[in-house]
Amino acid sequence: MKKVWIAPGCIVCRACEDLCPDVFTVDEISAEVRSDADLSSRDSIEEAAQACPVDVINYQS
Ligand code: SF4
Repeated sequence: MKKVWIAPGCIVCRACEDLCPDVFTVDEISAEVRSDADLSSRDSIEEAAQACPVDVINYQS
């Protein structure tokens, strides 16, 4: 992936972190893309984006 970002609206369900911990981290308030994210994890990033219940995970491939 060239770029991964999270739009406003995260409900802190932690699915993205569970599915793709190398890219996403979730605190008490919101999810973030890790500063050292491994954007080569294409399948895991797509899986996390599809699993997000509020569709706020975006990526540019
Ligand atoms: S899967 Fe979506 S709603 Fe859940 S923590 Fe990640 S960004 Fe937030």
